[in-house]
Amino acid sequence: MRSLRERDAEVIWHPFTQSGMGVTPLSVVAAEGSNLILEDGRKIIDGISSWWCNTHGHGHPELVKAAAKQFAKLDHVMFAGFTHEPAVALAEALLKVLPQGFAKVFFSDNGSTACEVALKLAVQFWSNQGLSKRRRIIALDGGYHGDTFGAMAVGARGPFSAPFDSMLFEVERVSIDGGEAALAHMRSLCESEEIAAFIFEPLVQGAGGMRMYDAALLDSYMAIAHEYGVLSIADEVMTGFGRTGALFASESLLLSPDIICLSKGLTAGSLPLAVTVCTQEIFERFISSDHSRTFFHGHTYTANPIACAVALVALNLTVAPECEAARKRIEHLHREAAEELSRIGYIENARVCGTILAFDLNMGDVPGYMSNIARQAFQFFIERGLLIRPLGNVVYCMPPYCITEGELASIYHAMRDFCAAR
Ligand code: PMP
Repeated sequence: MRSLRERDAEVIWHPFTQSGMGVTPLSVVAAEGSNLILEDGRKIIDGISSWWCNTHGHGHPELVKAAAKQFAKLDHVMFAGFTHEPAVALAEALLKVLPQGFAKVFFSDNGSTACEVALKLAVQFWSNQGLSKRRRIIALDGGYHGDTFGAMAVGARGPFSAPFDSMLFEVERVSIDGGEAALAHMRSLCESEEIAAFIFEPLVQGAGGMRMYDAALLDSYMAIAHEYGVLSIADEVMTGFGRTGALFASESLLLSPDIICLSKGLTAGSLPLAVTVCTQEIFERFISSDHSRTFFHGHTYTANPIACAVALVALNLTVAPECEAARKRIEHLHREAAEELSRIGYIENARVCGTILAFDLNMGDVPGYMSNIARQAFQFFIERGLLIRPLGNVVYCMPPYCITEGELASIYHAMRDFCAAR
């Protein structure tokens, strides 16, 4: 009998994978709590929450129950011209816990589309007011917002976007390092009256290398944007639902964003769902007896009832005091580990933000995404029963909140041992 890997190699094209480099996927047959179970029986601790989305562990019984119950009742219905209880209840619950000022929830099904929706909303917000020149976007330098064209355009340019660069719309950038010159640049851009919106990942730039930065910088940029009426878009696809400690990273900002994008932890990492939430003011600019002002955007699986029902239960789990305590415990352990790791020669810039621990490996390899160290480290960690998948030379841990102290210790030890083995 042919193995799953052999059958896979014949018919499947994997994401972010160079098949010419002999990369073979690991066959996962089941998952439970913080563990993935492989075909050969090995258990792997999911140290990066399966691409940053799994918050409460795999196969959480309450989520499984919610999905099964909803599936039996109403599996799916188109969302243009129809509504259902799971979507309405989820929107109501989200608006209760989001920072002040949000009023309307627009559903889609992944982080990239949540950002596409945000960008299109911002541009049309202005064009619906007869200000169609106001359509340029400012992005925080080094960001990542997804792989669709609009999301790619506002993200950092590099090897991922290179074949498409000439097709992406131009974007203004402001530095993540801040300083007087950067703020003056932000002001001059906003003064031009051509800027529709400013998009950023608050507190941590994920795919850009787990770059953590001070909320004060964002406060300064947002204050300028606000002064000139430029809409601010918080991409909390990664940071939402407790990742940075607080429920949303935007809670640490002085001004509330006008638009927020959420996905990943929305369903605790179990089903594809996303929302783009905006203020009443934005929504009202689309209300008209003129059809051309409509927001003509939607996806087949918009507000899928099963995903919404699961998301509602996931949210209840996330806001529970026990979950907040679990996140605090992870942060505390991460901080102790970061202090210890930073004494190791090869490790630079060990940093923690909430449940995210990251550091740069300086082993004389090319820095950044093209570094070879990522593959070596990934292999080393897998052999130790850990899913830790570095971003180039940036090694990080972003576990499900249910991870145990012992499981975290095994991750920290392996990080230390990887360096010691060099
Ligand atoms: N924004 C951010 C901040 C992200 O981290 C990601 C995914 N890593 C996305 C957008 C895109 O999300 P998706 O992969 O679900 O399209």
